[in-house]
Amino acid sequence: MRQKKRFIAGAVCPKCKQQDTLMLFFEQGVEQIECVECGHQQSQTSNEVKQASGAQSQVIGLFKPE
Ligand SMILES: [Zn+2]
Repeated sequence: MRQKKRFIAGAVCPKCKQQDTLMLFFEQGVEQIECVECGHQQSQTSNEVKQASGAQSQVIGLFKPE
């Protein structure tokens, strides 16, 4: 079984604080993330990483110039 892994753009590893080192992949139907820098692994049970990678666009979206 080959696993599709892809990097999460802009995501920061909660352990080593490096950016763009987190890979997202599925294991037994569950989203997992793994840091290629320090080997940190966790289940993607929350939207923590997605929020981290989307935080900037959300802030921009909330900003209204008027
Ligand atoms: Zn790490």
